[in-house]
This record gives sequence, structure tokens and C-alpha cells, in this order.
Amino acid sequence: MYSMKPKERVLKALNREPVDRIPVGNPTSVATVESMEQCGAFFPDAHLDPEKMATLSATGFELLGFDTIAPYFSVQQEAAAFGAKMRWGEVDSMPDVLENLYEDPSQIVIPSDFLERPPIHTVIESLRILKKYYGDNLCLVGKVMGPWTLSYHLHGVQSFLINTILDPEKVRGFLQKLKAVTIMFANAQFEAGADVVTLADHATGDLVSGDCYKDFLLPVHQEINKLINGPTILHICGNTTDRLDHIAKAGFKCFHFDSKVNPTEAKKIIDGRISLTGSINNPTVLYKGTPEDVRREVYKNCEAGIEMISPECAIPLRTPNENLRAIVKAVEEYCKDN
Ligand SMILES: [Zn+2]
Repeated sequence: MYSMKPKERVLKALNREPVDRIPVGNPTSVATVESMEQCGAFFPDAHLDPEKMATLSATGFELLGFDTIAPYFSVQQEAAAFGAKMRWGEVDSMPDVLENLYEDPSQIVIPSDFLERPPIHTVIESLRILKKYYGDNLCLVGKVMGPWTLSYHLHGVQSFLINTILDPEKVRGFLQKLKAVTIMFANAQFEAGADVVTLADHATGDLVSGDCYKDFLLPVHQEINKLINGPTILHICGNTTDRLDHIAKAGFKCFHFDSKVNPTEAKKIIDGRISLTGSINNPTVLYKGTPEDVRREVYKNCEAGIEMISPECAIPLRTPNENLRAIVKAVEEYCKDN
């Protein structure tokens, strides 16, 4: 029925080239408790066991029909590898970091065995496993935290944000020090088999201004993207409308946006410079809504010309699989009729 393999479909869509149908992808996690029960790989074990991480992430294709597989579920593998005290969570909760390791950027030393440390090695090894089984057919999506998010986890959200005003040099110091982690981990994931890597850097509209993104982060993102050996998708949740123009200049292949951003407006601002993926609402539509609600959101994004349809962020773990499958079904219907 379709002429392209999922991998080709996704990579062409991210390049804004013609596709046989709009792809459905997940730059962030689509792991659910329902999927864990069906595949036998559960949180929290799946964060630190490559086989389980690969098995659970593959449910995105096997059970939901997505065109991508993305094994890094949480946002804390890097902080854990730095040695921060962790709560790895339960079957229905994400891991969390329990301490802030660094007061000042000068204290940070990136461990020489960083890529071999279990939280990092698990992601890399799971990509190798997925590459062997799915590499020809599916688009494998890696993920890394950008230096802004790493600063939240290693220094503390509040202190970091206050310093964008009180001590901007300290903020720049953290970004300069931590960007090396982002680059190193992304390149290791490409080497292991990732086709594209999501870079999550939560300079969100709820916390910082668009000018703040431009001032602190845009030059760092441009530099990082020059040193990463493959296409990247930037992920920032919340309303990012006021920084879309800057994001389009940062060297990413694609931007993964939130349902707080109007997809038609986003397309207009981005103006064909990069591709867009999103923006099916998590809490009200995917988690609490019906397949009919999902269909309406999917159509809104397809009609706006969004290149790849995806949930706006890592989905709530109790999201019903039926609603996730409804994304694929609605995209197929839309593409048949249009
Ligand atoms: Zn997010």
C-alpha cells in the first residue's frame, strides 16, 4: 500500500522532501505501562538494562505502529552518569535526580569513562541492539540533553534561571563546560546506529524569554550542531512561538514543538527553513481524550503542513495505547483523502 519504508519516510520528511504518507514519530518517549505489560520490560529496570530498553522502545513500532523507535525514555541518564543521587522511579513514574552536584562550572570534570558508565552505556548498547533488528526498516531516534537542561539537573533549575539575570557569566560557564557532553553522547549514538538524535534543551517559554534563548543558547546550539555527525531534532516544551525564528537558525534539522504553539503560525514563522514535528496534546487529548479527539488534533497538524506527526512530549505513562494507535490511523486516513 505504501512505497516507502518507515525509515525512508521519516528521513525524507525531516528533509522536507516528498513522502508516500506523513510519518508518525516520537522524538521523545512513547513508553506506556500498557506496553510494558505486553512486552515484559518494565520501568525502572528498562532505564539501566540495554535489552529491556530496546524491547520496551520497540513497542512504539510493534504495538503502536509508529515509524520511529526511541530508546532513551527519561531525561536523567546523563545526570546519573555524573554520579548524582537518583530516584529511578516506579513502573508509572519517570526517574528524578535528588541532588545538584555542582555550585560552579569550574567544579565540573567530565569523567573520562563517561560513555562506559551504565546509564549512558545502556542507551548506546540498546541502539546497537535495535540497529541489528530494525536498522534497515525503522528510523532509530537517539536522544541527548542539551547544556541548558544539563545545567538544570547538575546545578538546579532555580539557581540557574536566576543567574541568567544575576550572573550571566556563570550561566555561560555552565553551557560552555557541558556542551561537550551533548556532543560526545550524540556522536556515540550516531555511531551505534541512531539515524537522528533529539536534543532536549528546556529553554521553555514558561521559564525564559525568546531573547534569553537568542542571547545564551543560539550560539551554543549553532556550535554544537556543527560538531554533531548527523541530523538533530530540537525539543523544547511549552510555548516557544517567540523563539521559533531563532530556532530556525540554530542548525537543527527539525523542531519538536508543543501543543501550546499554533501549528499554522509555527509553519509561517519557520517558513521552510527547517522541518517541524508535533504537536498532539498529552494531558487532555492522549491521556484523557478519545480516539476522536486524537483524530481532530492530528488533522489540525496535517492541515498545517507539519512534516511529522508526534505527541508533544514524553507521554504520561498511563496513556491508553488505543489513543496512540489512533494517531497512526488518523494520519493514514488524512493522507488517503488528501
Ligand atoms: Zn518536553
